[in-house]
Amino acid sequence: MKLEGSCHCGSVHFSVSSKHPYPFNNCYCSICRKTAGGGGYAINLGGDFDSLKVEGEKFISVYKAIIKNSVTGDSQESPGQRNFCSKCGSALWQWDPRWPELVHPFASAIDTDLPFPPERTHMMLGSKAKWVEIHPGPNDKLFEEYPQESLAEWHLRIGNEGRNA
Ligand SMILES: [Zn+2]
Ligand SMILES: [Zn+2]
Repeated sequence: MKLEGSCHCGSVHFSVSSKHPYPFNNCYCSICRKTAGGGGYAINLGGDFDSLKVEGEKFISVYKAIIKNSVTGDSQESPGQRNFCSKCGSALWQWDPRWPELVHPFASAIDTDLPFPPERTHMMLGSKAKWVEIHPGPNDKLFEEYPQESLAEWHLRIGNEGRNA
């Protein structure tokens, strides 16, 4: 489906075609929480980078998080590029040069009505703030770090289960 999105002040509008539009993937990592997740987490969608069209590109700033390696203690800049509006601060999408064909818009920036996810994934719970209470539904899946299942695999599984039901 085609997703339309914007920042809060309206300086940036974008559209992107998405095969993976269910907002099921809640990320509780500290970067998502601080940059995009007032409720304790952010929700990433999957889109096709080639289809991304942007108005107001000059207002976009990019943040690359500094990530500390828990084993070596070294700090490194993450290759992941978090795009946000430099005027109002709205988080827009993440793009990573390691997977250049993908783009991950934040559900919070999308204006199109998104489909309601029949179950959710709660990931990076090892980084969750103590004050954040999760309310998992009966079929929700919980992960301390990253799940094995990708955004694409989740959509494939849900689609197949829908057909079997
Ligand atoms: Zn803005
Ligand atoms: Zn995250």
